Amino acid sequence: MGCRERAAKGELLRTVVIEGVCVPDPRGTLPGRGASVHPTLVCLDLAVRRRAFPRAFKVPGPLDTARLRQYVEQTEQQ
Ligand SMILES: [Zn+2]
Repeated sequence: MGCRERAAKGELLRTVVIEGVCVPDPRGTLPGRGASVHPTLVCLDLAVRRRAFPRAFKVPGPLDTARLRQYVEQTEQQ
């Protein structure tokens, strides 16, 4: 969604929206419509700047991406 670069499914992080909050779904088990981003702050920032999340989830934005950012920051540090 962010950088729009194609990637293998396993490289992307699935996210879903729960009550206006974007949450990471690394195992792909959460119900509902999902959207994928690279698990990097660069890609996440691009997606937020492009308002890609509300469009992907077909909900009025903006959406809270704080939890997603926290998850990506932790993933990038590993
Ligand atoms: Zn990307």
